[in-house]
Amino acid sequence: MSGLGKGITAASIGRLLMNRGYRVTAIKIDPYINIDAGLMSPFQHGEVYVLKDGGEVDLDLGNYERFLDVELTREHNITTGKVYKTVIEKERRGEYLGKTVQIIPHITDEIKRRIRSVSREGGNEICLVEVGGTVGDIESMPFLEAMRQLRHEESGNIFFVHVTLAPTTMDGEQKTKPTQHSVKEMRGLGLQPDMIAVRCEKPLLPETKQKIAHFCDVPIEAVISCHDADDIYQVPLQLEKEGLSTYLMKEMRLFPLDERKDWDELVRKMDSPRGQVLVAIVGKYTASSQCTDTMEDAYLSIREALKHAGIESGFRPLISWIDAEELNHGAPEIMLREFDGILVPGGFGSRGTEGKMKAVEYARTRKVPYLGICFGMQLAVVEFARNVLGLVGANSTEFGDTQHPVIALLPEQEGLREMGATMRLGNYAAHLLEGSLAHRIYGSTDIVERHRHRYEVNPSYIDAMEEKGLIFSGRNGDLMEIAEISDHPFFFASQFHPEMRSRPGRPSPPFLAFVEAMAERRAR
Ligand code: GLN
Repeated sequence: MSGLGKGITAASIGRLLMNRGYRVTAIKIDPYINIDAGLMSPFQHGEVYVLKDGGEVDLDLGNYERFLDVELTREHNITTGKVYKTVIEKERRGEYLGKTVQIIPHITDEIKRRIRSVSREGGNEICLVEVGGTVGDIESMPFLEAMRQLRHEESGNIFFVHVTLAPTTMDGEQKTKPTQHSVKEMRGLGLQPDMIAVRCEKPLLPETKQKIAHFCDVPIEAVISCHDADDIYQVPLQLEKEGLSTYLMKEMRLFPLDERKDWDELVRKMDSPRGQVLVAIVGKYTASSQCTDTMEDAYLSIREALKHAGIESGFRPLISWIDAEELNHGAPEIMLREFDGILVPGGFGSRGTEGKMKAVEYARTRKVPYLGICFGMQLAVVEFARNVLGLVGANSTEFGDTQHPVIALLPEQEGLREMGATMRLGNYAAHLLEGSLAHRIYGSTDIVERHRHRYEVNPSYIDAMEEKGLIFSGRNGDLMEIAEISDHPFFFASQFHPEMRSRPGRPSPPFLAFVEAMAERRAR
């Protein structure tokens, strides 16, 4: 079922195989009818993750990129919407030659075609396929049927891991009934798991494992305890201890080609920080997102990027979520006083913008380290225009007409928008100003980062702003990519989303510099 940690389990399995020297890729299947995650609410489904090709996908793809240190494309996220769209278009072109088009075989064939085509690209040796949803859901039926067919067609090269839940009763007993029932349900569809990964609070007791093995027809070594971990990066090590990769490799006749230890070292480093820093993330939090879990999912990659920077620098960032609307009605001097740094993340819509700008103003004038991402850069520009240039009512045209449209839609540039209907999506290059903060933190004058936005800095205001100290140190032609203030310990804002390319062991340069600046401030 959703929220169980299938994605992390799959990503961890991939990492373990990668540690043994294999080239691993991943596919996420989302049985919903949406074509992609582009129009889905981050507060309901978690953040919309953006890939290099501009694909707007489920956040699990971000976990795959981070755990496997790969760059995926939109083809790695298969949805019911994509599958049906292809089949219906084919039908309209007459390619089914007058046959009746049906779920079996036409939809299932298209699912298998997509899985095979991704698996075979670029020398991959192992492909993880995560089937989202719950066994028994109507939506996931065609996908599970396609898996059943694949097992026959690719006999011996398929391994099924079933992720289940073993809840604990009040008196600490681990219950196996839900696992038994879902395996039974799977078998009804013709699928017998090769391994059962059991999510549970505490490590599975030997007798619980025995019971699951017995009732579900798998050897006891194939029952893996996936108990709660303090951090998702510990999960691969936990699963290794459980003997997961040894069993899986034996069953798949794979030999270890390598013995990589970098993940172990990463976790060791993560678990022994030198200190911590307090960071405020000022965002628009809806009533339904009041719980930290939802918030963390809506800004998952930012949290991860902060973590990567924390591991590298030795200073673990502790995040507080500050509601921009509350900030607008409250006093920033009080609400933001304790923090070593302020981060304004990406966002859409006018709610909370005034509060976010109060946070920017506070960071700018009090010289508190500031990292602005996408919307966080646009608002930094608006704040600067209003409060430094004195342009009363300056704003982004995202919120209607204004006398001073410092953020606006630009006339379409040739070839630029071809990938998304209206948004600038995916990888774009930026050229950095020599000697700037941006240049220093990236250690290069040419970078590539991921984008997801519609509005741009209006070029007609650039000279005036630079004159007053807001420097556009990263550019892509007429498009402003980075804004920074030099007379400030750390004020860095980007139109792109650096968090999407951050990796454990290879933190995003702006995030690393931000955490270091926070640590310096704290030391002072
Ligand atoms: N709403 C802004 C735009 O569309 C910023 C988007 C974002 O922060 N991802 O340009």
